[in-house]
Amino acid sequence: MPNPASPAVTIVGGGLVGALLACLLAQRGFAVEVFERRRDPRVAGYAGGRSINLALAERGLHGLRLAGLGEEVMRLAVMMRGRMVHHRDGHCELLRYGRDDSQVIWSLSRGRLNIALIDAAERAGARFRFEQRLHDARFADEVTLQLVDEASGATHTHQTPFVLGCDGAGSSLRAAMNRAQALGERIEELGHGYKELEIPSRGAADAATAFAIEANALHIWPRGNYMCIALPNAEGHFTVTLFLPNQGAPSFAQVNNAGAARALFERDFADLLPMLPEFDADFSGNPVGTLATLYLDHWHLDRRALLLGDAAHAIVPFHGQGMNCGFEDAVELAELFAAHDEDSAWIFAEFERRRRPNAAAIAAMALENYVEMRDSVADPGFLLRRELGRVLADRHPDRFVPRYWMVTFSRMPYAQAFARGAIQDALLHELADGHDRLDDIGLAKADARVRARLQPLTAA
Ligand SMILES: Cc1cc2nc3c(=O)[nH]c(=O)nc-3n(C[C@H](O)[C@H](O)[C@H](O)COP(=O)(O)OP(=O)(O)OC[C@H]3O[C@@H](n4cnc5c(N)ncnc54)[C@H](O)[C@@H]3O)c2cc1C
Repeated sequence: MPNPASPAVTIVGGGLVGALLACLLAQRGFAVEVFERRRDPRVAGYAGGRSINLALAERGLHGLRLAGLGEEVMRLAVMMRGRMVHHRDGHCELLRYGRDDSQVIWSLSRGRLNIALIDAAERAGARFRFEQRLHDARFADEVTLQLVDEASGATHTHQTPFVLGCDGAGSSLRAAMNRAQALGERIEELGHGYKELEIPSRGAADAATAFAIEANALHIWPRGNYMCIALPNAEGHFTVTLFLPNQGAPSFAQVNNAGAARALFERDFADLLPMLPEFDADFSGNPVGTLATLYLDHWHLDRRALLLGDAAHAIVPFHGQGMNCGFEDAVELAELFAAHDEDSAWIFAEFERRRRPNAAAIAAMALENYVEMRDSVADPGFLLRRELGRVLADRHPDRFVPRYWMVTFSRMPYAQAFARGAIQDALLHELADGHDRLDDIGLAKADARVRARLQPLTAA
């Protein structure tokens, strides 16, 4: 239990980022109280509402290791070696993410991860108050949170010197801060939505044969302007997500019932459809999720309130980095709190200074990755540049690192990965455009350009 004299921290939102932050701060001796709108998932079952599973990469894993959860989480996760691309003609190919199995990502149940984090935070001394929804906040000398008890409907208030907002993309704290002082909020809709479907487990006793398709991959059916993906779950089933424009042909406006969806799948995802026995019920019953990027000019209200995770910078999911980025936020903030006696105004400003450029960079890369997943992975020019990039990475490991590797397998600041990635991409275009085969590209010229254009990583 925390020392009664420990500095108090109030967090709104006990989702992925709020629960990790609570754990890291409680471990550092802070008296942490978390107000969470939902019921306790350990009692009520996990009410996710979106994306049943998530891809975990090095940045997120680092935060979980600091919370002491590295091994526990790995036991719950399914390794994904690369993208298994399902082409229109039915043939499949695995595009490995990294060099070998030391460079992979992990598929993890959102609910199980959230529960593991809440348990760890409570073990460290944090106190969760479930079914407490933030309704509004007033910012005077102290912050007054107006909370609604979701079970009884009763309202009550909570006074705190400052509050940390981890209440997700639709953050109520952000809305209250924005009313007190404009945060410069801009929400850019992607114009595409998503719907979740399921490939069930074969029900085999043996985990290895339970999966209907290759277990250790993120499956993609790229179809130009739209796509399906499937991520494995530890129990042997896959969560399939259809990403489709909201308007046009095809779109969710047009494909708005199970019959129309079946016709789309018969035409474009013919090998996937037979694996979806509950297709009609899933399509009719599951909502269309919206996708948008949130930009804010300010993440904090002087010393009184700070936003982090999706509440500050929700992004589209195509790099599988939203949670990973939010976990980096939690690590950075916990370290700032632990290392500095300065008041919260300084800590919040410093946090925003360090994190905002990185959030902007991953937001841009996530948008770019949608085009790559739904379209480029089936484009010969893209595949040639990708192959060349991997050759250059072998020849110049200190200078040329594919952008996906920098984002996914390292903790290099996102902004740095974005900037280096742009130089590398221009270089790959210069060298590969006009060629069909790797053998036709002069590697001596490529080597000279890498040395001239890319600083060694240690000096960057
Ligand atoms: C389809 C999809 C797929 C994704 N895939 C990936 C992936 O593969 N990898 C990855 O890294 N990221 C992925 N993401 C992003 C990831 O889901 C988010 O970045 C992550 O959930 C952010 O965590 P958070 O704690 O900031 O917000 P949330 O997870 O949204 O948690 C917010 C919490 O606050 C609570 N809350 C909300 N309002 C209130 C209130 N008024 N009062 C009290 N509590 C409140 C909520 O109940 C919730 O528990 C994906 C997102 C989507 C939509």
